[in-house]
Amino acid sequence: MNRQSTSNGALAEALFSLADSEPPGDRRLALLRAGYAAFDCPGKASREALREAPTWLQPLISQLVGCRSEDALRAAVQRLRGAQADRRRPARKGFLSRAEIGETLGSGPVELHPKRLRGACHWHTRHSDGKASLETMVRACGRRGYAWSMVTDHSKGLEVVSGLDREGVRIQRRRVEHWNDRHGEDHHLFQGLEVEVLEDGTLDVPKGERLEVDCVLAAVHSHFDADRDQTERLIRAVNTPEVHVLAHPRGRHFHHRPGLKARWENVFSACADAGVAVEINGFPRRQDLDPALARLAVDSGCEILLASDAHAVPHLEFDGYASAIAMRAEVPRERILNVKHADEFEVWLEERSNV
Ligand SMILES: [Zn+2]
Ligand SMILES: [Zn+2]
Repeated sequence: MNRQSTSNGALAEALFSLADSEPPGDRRLALLRAGYAAFDCPGKASREALREAPTWLQPLISQLVGCRSEDALRAAVQRLRGAQADRRRPARKGFLSRAEIGETLGSGPVELHPKRLRGACHWHTRHSDGKASLETMVRACGRRGYAWSMVTDHSKGLEVVSGLDREGVRIQRRRVEHWNDRHGEDHHLFQGLEVEVLEDGTLDVPKGERLEVDCVLAAVHSHFDADRDQTERLIRAVNTPEVHVLAHPRGRHFHHRPGLKARWENVFSACADAGVAVEINGFPRRQDLDPALARLAVDSGCEILLASDAHAVPHLEFDGYASAIAMRAEVPRERILNVKHADEFEVWLEERSNV
């Protein structure tokens, strides 16, 4: 048996880049699946995950797994790809594999570990595009050790159809109050809302409508235009008085989208000036911000919100990705909103709302 000595991330990248040089079809799909299996596999167990790949792909996988160094792996990819052009996608750069996340959590500063956070922030329910009910999600946050949590379903505007309209926000508000009446002493629940930033930087909220929630997350989900500098769009969004947090600022998506182009030092300075926190979104396909930009946000004076962006109960563990990125960026614990007690977080929200 070959000893695996390259990282899961490097192995995944080798499989992805071989997939890139294939035309659409079964072979390309199998290579992509194997790439994701390696990328999402915890620890050094990717060989186990790769056994699920089709038999005809196993000799190729054995060759890659048998490489003793990343140089050898790259050489093997070149050999296997032959004369095919290099179609390497930048949308995979700077993402951490699950194994790397695990290693960071195991060796990074313990005070940034999810177990040491108090608030579970940014998750979705069936009220928008989540899979579970509000109560199921908030109970799962409690079981994960959190003292408080914050739901942030999508608002329904022009760009997001499966979100909450004004009546939906009110109905959810009543359920949040009902939860807090019964369980608020043990686990306080805040109601947030994830609101789309339109192409011009305004929020996707019908004119004259007030956002009657505890916390507003502004986020980009459309108009990524790779060639356009989007600094002004983002600055306009963070200068909107209702906004508390700039969520997944780049809007990048693993394998598909490199994210917005912007002068980030200007965006983060605007956040710091406006008292808007910047999110580290731990959803594995987002990892937004990455450690370098998270560090820049800290150096610009921003406060940081760690988020799982869970759309189902098992996704709550994506808080580990956000923590690991914060560890790599050496975010000081006192800059992280999730370490506040619920009453301290409430004060922070109110201060921002009164700006
Ligand atoms: Zn989002
Ligand atoms: Zn979200």
